[in-house]
Amino acid sequence: MTQAGQAPGHPRVVLAPGRQKRLLAGHPWIYNNEVAQIAGAPAPGDTVDVLDTRGTFLARGYYNPQSQIVVRVLTRREEPVDAAFFARRIRRAWAQRQRLLPDVSCCRVVFGEADFLPGLIVDKFGDLLVLQSLALGIDRWQPAVVTALQELLAPAGIYERNDAPIRALEGLPLRTGFLWGAADPHQVIEENGLRLAIDVATGQKTGYYLDQQANRRAIRAYSAGARVLDCFCNVGGFALNAVAGGAAGVVAVDSSTDALALAWENAGLNGMQDRLTTEEGNAFDVLKRLNGERARFDLIILDPPPFAKNRAAVAGALRGYKEINLRALRMIPDGGFLVTCSCSFHMTPALFRAVVAEAALDAGRRLRLVEERAQNVDHPILAGYEESHYLKCLIYEVVIP
Ligand code: SAH
Repeated sequence: MTQAGQAPGHPRVVLAPGRQKRLLAGHPWIYNNEVAQIAGAPAPGDTVDVLDTRGTFLARGYYNPQSQIVVRVLTRREEPVDAAFFARRIRRAWAQRQRLLPDVSCCRVVFGEADFLPGLIVDKFGDLLVLQSLALGIDRWQPAVVTALQELLAPAGIYERNDAPIRALEGLPLRTGFLWGAADPHQVIEENGLRLAIDVATGQKTGYYLDQQANRRAIRAYSAGARVLDCFCNVGGFALNAVAGGAAGVVAVDSSTDALALAWENAGLNGMQDRLTTEEGNAFDVLKRLNGERARFDLIILDPPPFAKNRAAVAGALRGYKEINLRALRMIPDGGFLVTCSCSFHMTPALFRAVVAEAALDAGRRLRLVEERAQNVDHPILAGYEESHYLKCLIYEVVIP
């Protein structure tokens, strides 16, 4: 109840003239330089209303003056933001996965802004859930999120991987551990019919890169009889799918000792150790050495970490992508395939295709694009929020005319 004479509702963030356009086109962020006025003294993490200069209600979201993203939009309706709101949104996200991926035991259940839950990531690995709260607003609601997940999915455990460095930009501390229940963080999951050991406590991000699931399956079609190189293999996802597709042998490279140990364990779990060789090292150096040895591979997969984490890093990232693609292409004979990925949003699809084309020219190869792929469907791409389309996975046939 509001007191007589007091303005009802939430504190208000009034946008500067013309700054409502991106919001109206579906984008969920307000940057701090787009705000004309803040009324009602919101505290960091509070729910605020976003208004245009005329005072028209546009959206409701969480406020964080410490972040460049001062408001993250939760809803475009004047509805209460409470535990029931978050439970509804999570139910809806899970229903979408059940519809699109009815047969999988592992998937991303919540993909932040693209599921209208800004800053929240929830990955499901069998009956273990891994959660990340990457914005102050959702960090505050984390107990309600945990309750909703318990009720909806009845997991054995919910583990928080709140050790992502971007939490610091939101003024949040880094934390990991079980929020609910307990389970062995070292789990054997199933993906594409393969058994994979992962570790949600010590693995990268939430323990496993679920976004490449369908792309890993897709490469089987190009693997029969192939000599394969999987660069940046992590726990061996692409490598083992190549073996499942009939590869003659796979060399899997990563700089992480832990990831490679899991890759080797995973080859064992699937009876594939006779087809796999792991090599620990910097992929740039390994590619250079293999070039020097005039090695040949019929299929090369490049799935590096994000070289460009912001716009300023794009120039350096272009050099990195060019180098690895050039060195890979030089080793692929006529009729072979290159699977090349970028998970940097700032590397747009057009820019990425262009840098691969340049590498091909320098390598004396022609490329035919056979598949242009993106992230798995449980990482939805939301129109109007281009940041949600971050993963590019291009499959090229290599031609030596
Ligand atoms: N292809 C993997 C995901 C790759 S994530 C999958 O399908 O799950 C990127 C990987 O690159 C990580 O495993 C990381 O350890 C590794 N990495 C980062 N920098 C590297 C470098 N310079 N050389 C080799 N590997 C690197």
